[in-house]
Amino acid sequence: MKKQLKPTQSAAEFVFGVTFYPDLWPREYLPRAFSLIAEAGMNVVRFGEMAWGNIETSPGRFDFEVFDEAIELAKKNGIKILFGIGTAAVPQWAIKKYPELKFVDHLGGLTPEYGPRPNACRDSALYLQLAEKYLKAVVARYKNNPVIWSWQIDNEPTYPPLDSTENHDFCHCPHTLEKFEAWAKEKYKDIETLNAAWGTAFWGNKFADFSDITTPKGGFWDAGNPHIYLDWFRFKSSRLNTVLRELSAKIKKLDPAHPVGTNNFVGLCNRVPDHAVVAQGMDWYGWDVYPKGTDNSVESFAENADIWRGICDSTGAQFIVAELQGGPNIRWGNPQKVSGSDLALWAHQCLAHGAQGILYHAFRPALFGSETGGFGILNANGSETERFTAIKKVSAEIKDNFTKLRGYQIKSEVAIAFLKASEIETYQEEGPARCLPAGWFGGRGDLGLFHSLNSIAGAYRVCFGSGLSPKFIFDDQLEREPITQKVLLLPNPYLLSEKAFSHVYNFVKSGGTLITEARFGVKDENAHLREIPYLSSLLEVKYQGGEIINAPLNLNKFGATASGFRDLIEAPRGVIAKFADGLPAILEKKLGKGKIIYAAYSLFQSLIAWDNRKLLEFIRKQLPTPQITVKSESAVEWVRWRKEKEEEKGSRGSGNNLLYLINHSEQAAAAKVYVSGKMRTTVRLKPFAAQLIEID
Ligand SMILES: [Zn+2]
Repeated sequence: MKKQLKPTQSAAEFVFGVTFYPDLWPREYLPRAFSLIAEAGMNVVRFGEMAWGNIETSPGRFDFEVFDEAIELAKKNGIKILFGIGTAAVPQWAIKKYPELKFVDHLGGLTPEYGPRPNACRDSALYLQLAEKYLKAVVARYKNNPVIWSWQIDNEPTYPPLDSTENHDFCHCPHTLEKFEAWAKEKYKDIETLNAAWGTAFWGNKFADFSDITTPKGGFWDAGNPHIYLDWFRFKSSRLNTVLRELSAKIKKLDPAHPVGTNNFVGLCNRVPDHAVVAQGMDWYGWDVYPKGTDNSVESFAENADIWRGICDSTGAQFIVAELQGGPNIRWGNPQKVSGSDLALWAHQCLAHGAQGILYHAFRPALFGSETGGFGILNANGSETERFTAIKKVSAEIKDNFTKLRGYQIKSEVAIAFLKASEIETYQEEGPARCLPAGWFGGRGDLGLFHSLNSIAGAYRVCFGSGLSPKFIFDDQLEREPITQKVLLLPNPYLLSEKAFSHVYNFVKSGGTLITEARFGVKDENAHLREIPYLSSLLEVKYQGGEIINAPLNLNKFGATASGFRDLIEAPRGVIAKFADGLPAILEKKLGKGKIIYAAYSLFQSLIAWDNRKLLEFIRKQLPTPQITVKSESAVEWVRWRKEKEEEKGSRGSGNNLLYLINHSEQAAAAKVYVSGKMRTTVRLKPFAAQLIEID
């Protein structure tokens, strides 16, 4: 069941706001800031998520003065507050008084005195006690204030404590170890089961007792034990979720009336635990997105937004955009100009892909600190920018479109499974080059780091622009419930449990189409090799092992080239394309009422390559034919929303569909809308403009 959030508690308004930190600015500036925020049409201000040390200035002494004033100013300007319970950064006095709060790295070193965030390990009882005292003071003070919209716990909790943690995951303190042992004990019950799952007999590393196990200090190359590493990743996701739930429960006990959520970002596997686990139990889950820090394409933005909608759907959390880039990057990413039309189009994209609220980051760039000069909608001197002007205009459009979208939803006939365990395992095996002092470079770092994300991007490309919004599903979900869509795209299907496989198998038997690729179920959920991989039993082929494709390999059909991994198979029938060396490349097989398209190589990551567009078209043909399509010569993105309860043809009241059209081009665009193959209407879109249109 979806949780019912009350946006801004007037229920009629869309959350459209910005971060602004009153504790970082002179007091005399605050009235001006809040009146400008209101003038831009923004109705929520987010602050406090890093302010623990600024509020609890010494143990048990709380200074709320500047926040009291900010809250009064918010009230005066008709603005609500998303108040961050800043437990991601504990005060300096706490770190000094209790050094045991610090993260411990793989060599036993402690995190520095200042700088990192988060700066304290969340696994100690002391941390939770201090956090509870602090949140009690904040919540008690403001919970009855009508300006409070919601509480945010932590800030980007999946962020690693130091940027240098690429291969050495924190934390290795005694508290974390204790939690890891307890987690393992809960999962495996007895030590022999754990030894079997972790394959510790190999190289004679068997544990005699749960108290013998250690956190994997060697990072991904932990003595070569992939099973411990995989469980370490699962533990981290689960543990983070436990902490977030505990903090949320403490807030709810004091204040059951307001929603509680947290924020995170899509990112590389080695740095980001499983969102579909971390988000469980949150009322909302905030997406932090900085398009100009990474791949700034319309498609990539859409993909990540759809991934976030999937995470929220799978956990029942509301989809909030907690940080949408408001100005140029600083310190990380690739600083580029951010224009007013960027801000407007990103907001439209967020809404079109299902966001229930949007907050930019930030209102004005900080004049000091780790983000000096970055991300502001305003200039550093506080003067207005064309970004500010654009927000003034787009805020009304967004709220209006949000109202129109009520009663409509994005329905998905295609699912994309995003298997985090497979991603972790691929990273573990290939990983970044092993730069040991002896110069042992192994693996394919590019494959380890990017294979999974590229495969997801390739699967997304199959759907993007087709009008079929895919639904992202995750490991847990594939285990838990049957697949209800018509087509399942299953990239990087390396690790499959028996349960997940049976859901996939039954899905095909009962009429579904499965499109998948190399290494299908080659390993089980513990990353043990299956004697007979699932691809053999599913496709009735003989599997003779796999290899990495080091130079692009041609197919005899579609003019296509293959990259990534390759399964070496013998297939007596169903081969529809072969590699240049004669081995089977793509198979088609009927099973029950459904069918399987299987590529014996990394199909999805290969589809990103421009020269594979013919193959991309072939894969697209396997999807259901969309009833509505939009064609345009310019860069028009469109998302189809459908009435929750569609009305019968000819009945009164129109608009079973709303098309959210976004023109990403600086040219005016004509978008031709086709219904069941027939041209219905042409929508003219101004440059960088969006429009919602009703279609029966
Ligand atoms: Zn720790």
